[in-house]
Amino acid sequence: MVESTGIEVIAVGAGFAGLTAAIECVRHGHKVTLLESFPDVKALGDIISFGANAGRIFKRWDGVEEKLDRICLNTKGINFKTYLGEDVYYQEWTPEETFGKPFNGHRGEIHEIVYEYAQKVGVNIILGHRVTDYFETETEAGVIANGQRFTADVVFAADGVRSKGRQIVLGYDDKPKSSGYAIFRTWFPSDKLANNPLTKFMCENGDNHCAWLGPDIHFIAATIKGGKDFSWVCTHKDEADIEESWQTPGKIEDALKVLEGWDPAVLEIVKATPPESLVDWKLVYRDPLPTWVSPKSRIALIGDAAHPFLPTSIQGASQAMEDGATLAVCLELAGKSDVALAILAYEKIRYQRVLMTQKTGESTREKWHKADFANLKEKPDTIKLQRGEWMLGHDAEKHAYEVYAETIASLDR
Ligand SMILES: Cc1cc2nc3c(=O)[nH]c(=O)nc-3n(C[C@H](O)[C@H](O)[C@H](O)COP(=O)(O)OP(=O)(O)OC[C@H]3O[C@@H](n4cnc5c(N)ncnc54)[C@H](O)[C@@H]3O)c2cc1C
Repeated sequence: MVESTGIEVIAVGAGFAGLTAAIECVRHGHKVTLLESFPDVKALGDIISFGANAGRIFKRWDGVEEKLDRICLNTKGINFKTYLGEDVYYQEWTPEETFGKPFNGHRGEIHEIVYEYAQKVGVNIILGHRVTDYFETETEAGVIANGQRFTADVVFAADGVRSKGRQIVLGYDDKPKSSGYAIFRTWFPSDKLANNPLTKFMCENGDNHCAWLGPDIHFIAATIKGGKDFSWVCTHKDEADIEESWQTPGKIEDALKVLEGWDPAVLEIVKATPPESLVDWKLVYRDPLPTWVSPKSRIALIGDAAHPFLPTSIQGASQAMEDGATLAVCLELAGKSDVALAILAYEKIRYQRVLMTQKTGESTREKWHKADFANLKEKPDTIKLQRGEWMLGHDAEKHAYEVYAETIASLDR
């Protein structure tokens, strides 16, 4: 049993940012109340990726790794093809001994495991409470949810891309911009594909992962759970109105139009997709925020609320988890009398790293969409995912312990 620090935390939002921050805070002796607007927990979403940097955090949670192993993708690498179906390159994942273990699987299923773990360790989770306002004084911070007032020493706004918490931090409402891209996404049983000669290669011999690259479009498919489940995502140009909902329905005919002239295997995959499972999600862009911390330093934005990621970074959920691991350590080292200092240290420790990681989303998309498709086989290095030790080998908890003292010494207060 860890010693109590007496620090009380409110986390808003039970996504991976809020849940991780809550679990990590409990691990470090703080008391957490978590408010979530959804009235119940549903297995929403489709495929989501956690890099080894997030895997390191999961691994510290008793019994969670074993549960994740049962539902997560189990591949040694990813096969790159051109949009016409020509094999280009097989990129092997870095071995687990090098940087650690990634976890990729169904967002809803992974979420359920993490949610249950948060309950088990004693996070006070209150569902069906939409936060409508944030406030802070020199001595406390709080929120209004369902007309009720909640107060604590600090508040983490983990309320996602449409964050209400941004208002108090920035002093204005910031508007999302269109990135010019949208993404079709889906998840469904693979039976039909396993029986189709053009697509069965994806369902044989356990899990498979394959990416097709074309001019300004990429299509990534994966089989999970020994080839039984199937997921694909397709990022494509889109100038339509910005919709940030995961629930926006997609149309099979629209996806086929976008992929006209592509490898027949890709077209078969799209045709086999249950229409009701297809989502068309517009990818919004937001300029990096000047700060993630409120004027009195008692409210911190975390996860997508602070820094939305493009899917091509493959790091959005992982960085959201790193935020929570960092905050828990900063609060422990600062102590109850200095929580505002902990929040400032969190921002300083995380800001540049997050910016660097966010940039990889754009650079990967650019190199995939603007590749020299006719000569790709000779130049596989131009499309390889570059995810080095700085990103995947990072241990957010250890790093926070190492740099906290020098960070607070360097703060301009
Ligand atoms: C329903 C859903 C499905 C998703 N599916 C996928 C997927 O398939 N693949 C993928 O890569 N990413 C998916 N994402 C996004 C991904 O989970 C995040 O980008 C990433 O994990 C960072 O998480 P986050 O906790 O910062 O934000 P989010 O995951 O967006 O979590 C924010 C949470 O805050 C809650 N919330 C928002 N406003 C309030 C409020 N005012 N009061 C109380 N609670 C509030 C939301 O209901 C949500 O639970 C999904 C997100 C959601 C919410």
